[in-house]
Amino acid sequence: MAIKLFDSLTREIRELQPSHPDGVLRFYNCGPTVYAPAHIGNFRAFVINDVLRRLLDLEFGPGRVKHVRNLTDVDDKTIRRAREEGRPLAAVTQQWTEKFHADCAALNCLSPHVEPTATGHIREQVDMIDVLMQKGNAYRAADGSVYFKVSSFDHYGELSRVKERELKLGSALKAAAADADEKEDVSDFALWKAHKDEDGANSWESPWGRGRPGWHIECSAMSKKHLGETIDLHTGGVDLLFPHHENEIAQSQCCNGVTFSRHWFHNEHLLVDGKKMSKSEGTLYTLDDLTAKGFSPMAVRYTLLMGHPRKQLNFTLDSLHAAEKALATLRAFRATLPATGGDPDVFAHEFAVLRDDLNLPEALGALFKVVNDKGLKVNATAFDRVMSVLGLDLQAVARKAAAPAAITALADKRWAVKQAKDFAAADALRKELAAAGWSMLDRKDGYSLEPLKK
Ligand SMILES: [Zn+2]
Repeated sequence: MAIKLFDSLTREIRELQPSHPDGVLRFYNCGPTVYAPAHIGNFRAFVINDVLRRLLDLEFGPGRVKHVRNLTDVDDKTIRRAREEGRPLAAVTQQWTEKFHADCAALNCLSPHVEPTATGHIREQVDMIDVLMQKGNAYRAADGSVYFKVSSFDHYGELSRVKERELKLGSALKAAAADADEKEDVSDFALWKAHKDEDGANSWESPWGRGRPGWHIECSAMSKKHLGETIDLHTGGVDLLFPHHENEIAQSQCCNGVTFSRHWFHNEHLLVDGKKMSKSEGTLYTLDDLTAKGFSPMAVRYTLLMGHPRKQLNFTLDSLHAAEKALATLRAFRATLPATGGDPDVFAHEFAVLRDDLNLPEALGALFKVVNDKGLKVNATAFDRVMSVLGLDLQAVARKAAAPAAITALADKRWAVKQAKDFAAADALRKELAAAGWSMLDRKDGYSLEPLKK
């Protein structure tokens, strides 16, 4: 049975198939901008894409899926952050790339096969812009910036149905116009941004003068370099659909003269407590914010899998508690399973609904039906296969949430004084830990920390 997925361009659920004669499915997923920690809204996209990747690996076999996910390491936000901190851009983006990798590992997301950076592909971006200039799809403004001429591409807006959305977009276009008054038309977008003083050292030579690439062109250039001119699947959060993906299509198709991506997949937004995530309300959670509250990264992953990718998902702390419970149930169930025997197809429905437009809530529901049906015979191998495609590492669940550094420092101190048999000091430190909301469990070879139940 093939994998079927909703295609945002044709608005249909379609089969995913590689088109290249080598049989390798080419998969591009827009990655993070590395200037701050990613929040759980970002991770909803990465976790959903991770299940998709795992499902594709299973379907097409090892080496038959090539997954590329970029890192945006030069843009207004990264440059502003570096300037504010008085550090080189590369130091800032390196720091946040490492943090992104650590968070992805904690969430058990597979690494992409290639993780290209925008600054590592300046040449490729300049080359593409050069072709667009030659073909008349782009023009140089007086200040040295280069813009894509939207009116030169007849298919512009087909992905986002931009004409139908024009009313809504009025304000967005005005905002875009405000930052670049050199454009011939408000809907034209920057391919190359002329150097400005605030860019500091972060600009490169080009045929149009010093500057830096616009954001959209990086994905077109890196996708072309690592996957070729036509790819099989392009994914991202629904917030990227317009203008980012619309612009990627325009640039790539005008430059290469062939279809850019054969399939587009977008996951919907994440809400927190029923509302848009907001910094001022403290709901723009990072993974660290949630582990500091005592939740395991695996519970965060599970929670992000609880909704259908094409529907908004409401994230609450209650749903995290429910996820911890569900994981504990799965772990206890796994411990009862024999290695062999039982019905090898007992999870057939789980895989069928995942293959049918990545229906995650249906798959989790079916999983618990099996877990709760005492009459079914299940073996550990079949069960592990389901855990593996969902990326649920039940061993990691047992490793509790990481305590904040200050708490670990207190615990280390208490461990040391206890080893030195200063029990009065050890007791005092235990009380201090408890007051901070943590309980310390001593074992022969060390200790573990658990958040106290409220
Ligand atoms: Zn992109």
